[in-house]
Amino acid sequence: MSEQLIPLGKRAEASRPAPVIAPDAPRVYMETYGCQMNVADSDLIGSVLATAGYAMTERADQADVMLINTCAVREKAEDRVIARASELGALKKKRPGAVLAIVGCMAEHLKEGLAERAPAVDVIAGPDSYRRIAEMLAAARTAQAGPTKRQIDVRLDKEETYDGLSGAAGGDGVSGFVTIQRGCDKFCTFCVVPFTRGRERGAPPREVLRQVRELAEAGYREVTLLGQTVNSYRWPDGNDGEVTFAELLRAVAKIEGIERIRFTSPYPVDFTADVIAAIAEEPKVCKYVHLPVQSGSDVVLERMRRGYTVQDYRDIVAALRAAMPQISLSTDILSGFSGETDDDHQQTLALMRELRFDSAFMFSYSERDLTFAAKKLPDDVTPAIKARRLTDIVDLQTKISGEVFAAHVGRNERVLVTGPSKRDPAQLVGRSDGFKSVILPAGVGSVGEIVEVTIKRSSMATLFATE
Ligand code: SF4
Repeated sequence: MSEQLIPLGKRAEASRPAPVIAPDAPRVYMETYGCQMNVADSDLIGSVLATAGYAMTERADQADVMLINTCAVREKAEDRVIARASELGALKKKRPGAVLAIVGCMAEHLKEGLAERAPAVDVIAGPDSYRRIAEMLAAARTAQAGPTKRQIDVRLDKEETYDGLSGAAGGDGVSGFVTIQRGCDKFCTFCVVPFTRGRERGAPPREVLRQVRELAEAGYREVTLLGQTVNSYRWPDGNDGEVTFAELLRAVAKIEGIERIRFTSPYPVDFTADVIAAIAEEPKVCKYVHLPVQSGSDVVLERMRRGYTVQDYRDIVAALRAAMPQISLSTDILSGFSGETDDDHQQTLALMRELRFDSAFMFSYSERDLTFAAKKLPDDVTPAIKARRLTDIVDLQTKISGEVFAAHVGRNERVLVTGPSKRDPAQLVGRSDGFKSVILPAGVGSVGEIVEVTIKRSSMATLFATE
């Protein structure tokens, strides 16, 4: 699962070069919840709609189509979408002919039932239905008001990788995304993703390389390859062999203009020796890995069906650190899963102290229907205990992150400048190779450049090359 959550955001524009838009073109307002995969999917939808003659707007109250691209990984994310759908539904009433579309994982998860929780919805489209999104919106917009106008397509398609459709898009003009794999075959017992995004399938290498080249030609300097378990990527090579993730990484590294390559989210056991070697040997591949551990207890890992033990995980970390002593590691921790005891929790804290991740995404377990855990494993850790354990985990990680970031003070970092700092637009912000935000003094470089700076101070989430 791509567990790196982003805050509620909105994609104002499809950043792919759009066809000429007529002044009276229908307007689309889009909001994106969830992981980077959803951000990339919103760009794909934006590009499909631009081709169909739509223009983007940042104002929901001026939109003909309000579209929410959703996440189903946690209950809270779904609750936020329902609240937002109700607000947009109220706006829609004031704009005759406007329609509300809810797309993505939550649409797939709840299917027709979504309309009971969000009665204003007109279009419900799952993650494999985006080729049809313009058609569905057109049907909803031209139909008479009433239940018959609701358009629903939540079929999952084992083959769909949006070959030929996804274009150079996304990000900030410096750092873009390319989806190389969709779906997931791991079926961790707590996770709804295999049910909302379907089975794992890779995009053809020629399509991946085409998209990365397009990014490079559009001036992007960094590409993040996306997949639910991105390092399990494979593609039949036509000679009874396979193009592996390691080979794909090396091929992407040959593309001129792209200076940095990242990928997310990998799965621990798919860090085979060839993948580790490709990361270590290719200078363009950033020495940063997000490695979701979820728990430090073998009993819990087994119940989650993660497919590794704590020792297996330690061995993967050791192999990564042996090949790249400077590597930065982040992780995901899911606290309070079914049957988790205080002793299991203490083992998670102990593993965090031992491995000292640079940062972590930390969550309390919430049951998701359709999953094995929802059907067979009791959600038996009380909310109060879940809250206390999550606080322990967050407090410990905050302390460790503070120490890890402080250790960078005095070191030189190569930083890709991505834009002006939000806090102080007179300063610049960028990312280090190890995926840390760095604040830079204005004038050290321009957007899209990689500059070498000395870190002068730190917080638990940011490095500063400024006084
Ligand atoms: S099933 Fe497991 S590997 Fe797949 S997306 Fe969910 S947590 Fe990640």
